[in-house]
Amino acid sequence: MAQGHTIPLLYLARILRQHDVPVTVFTTPANSPSVRATLHDAGISIIELPFPADIDGIPQGVENTDKLPSMSLIFQFANATKLMQPQFEKALQDIKPVGCIISDAFLGWTQDIAAKLGIPRIGFYGMSIFATTLYFILGQERPHALTTSPDEPFSIPNFPKLSLTRNDFDPPFNELDPKGPRVDFMMEQNIAMAKSYSVIINSFYELEPSYTEYWNRCIGPKAWCLGPFAAAKPQVLLANESAKPNWMLWLDKKLQNGDSVLYVAFGTQAEVSQEQLLEIADGLEKSKANFLWVIRSKRLEISEGYEEKVKDRGMIVKEWVDQMEILRHKSVKGFLSHCGWNSVTEAICNGVPILAMPFMAEQHLNARLVSEEVGVGLRIMPSNGSVRGFVKAEEVEKRVKELMEGTKGEGVRKKMKEVGEAACGAIREGGSSWETLEQVIADVSNYHKISFF
Ligand code: UDP
Repeated sequence: MAQGHTIPLLYLARILRQHDVPVTVFTTPANSPSVRATLHDAGISIIELPFPADIDGIPQGVENTDKLPSMSLIFQFANATKLMQPQFEKALQDIKPVGCIISDAFLGWTQDIAAKLGIPRIGFYGMSIFATTLYFILGQERPHALTTSPDEPFSIPNFPKLSLTRNDFDPPFNELDPKGPRVDFMMEQNIAMAKSYSVIINSFYELEPSYTEYWNRCIGPKAWCLGPFAAAKPQVLLANESAKPNWMLWLDKKLQNGDSVLYVAFGTQAEVSQEQLLEIADGLEKSKANFLWVIRSKRLEISEGYEEKVKDRGMIVKEWVDQMEILRHKSVKGFLSHCGWNSVTEAICNGVPILAMPFMAEQHLNARLVSEEVGVGLRIMPSNGSVRGFVKAEEVEKRVKELMEGTKGEGVRKKMKEVGEAACGAIREGGSSWETLEQVIADVSNYHKISFF
């Protein structure tokens, strides 16, 4: 129950319907309106299970991580979901037959029910197979064991070209001996995953082939790359101009004027400090680029007079936007992104090159994938010589100019176009993701020795 996990799973549900698979989506009352809106025309059943009440620290009505008063409550929140187990089990027994359960990996408890009812569980981490594999290698093979500082580079066995630092991994995993609730929580989910039938990846084979193969050969359970899921999002066609949100009208105007726009957004969870926000604002102003900036956090405030200063070329939006529609817009030529995996895949679907500025979770690894492994983006770096730290305005200005006007920008734009075309090819009939999904359907049908589909 986090936007970055729900959104791709809903797109996947649509893809499954395209392959004639009957789908039921489980959600909770507060999440239900957005789930229903996304799936309204998809012919998918939706079941609401009540979210547990009276959980210490979780205000009544908060049923999604993006509504949590602080991300420090994430484990109370995730653990609270375990209390939904009996209702989930009962609701499952009322749907017959169930071919398989596709479950977010952070709901590890669904594996217990799957095992009890003899239904295969397919997990979903919501990450690239690159980042998922590297987290497993770090935990199991400890290639960082001899490093003496979190910024000392180390190499990864079997991937000789790759050089990482401990700071590419989110705390506490950047420590040599990580401990605490986050480690315990991940262990629990990973054990459930190890017992699962397989894992679904929101990626396509051609994007991360060596990591997919390594995972299947050395880690497991079997990974199936079925994405990018965002390609299944139907385009929003608005009947007239008055139905368009302000930001869309603004982008249309920029397109008419022949201006290129940088889209700036850091997802739903990254906790950007006020100081860092002001520095980014300063860098964007100095870059002279046209930009559309979505600031989701209510606690962050841009300095007074800023919007007036940049008014002809900068627009700041504080409400929920349709990010895929923004990335689809012909005026958008660059994406300053935190590199949440959905944002990366959405940029790929639309061929928009990325300026990577990671903050948390596996975003630093995604930034490496984007800028070093695949070459579809440039990287913004902190000034302290580490991959993690404060980014100065000058760096933002320089990299924005490079992406939007420079030859490096041209290079990654060209590469992004190729990769975007490969992504579209993967999900088309006969493409790698399409074929893999057909295989999943056949495997699951076979598992039960009867064909539901
Ligand atoms: N998103 C959106 N509108 C917003 C903010 C976010 O559509 O105003 C979507 C975005 O398109 C993506 C998801 O929310 O599908 C965010 O996922 P991502 O993995 O990029 O980042 P996270 O929020 O998990 O850090």
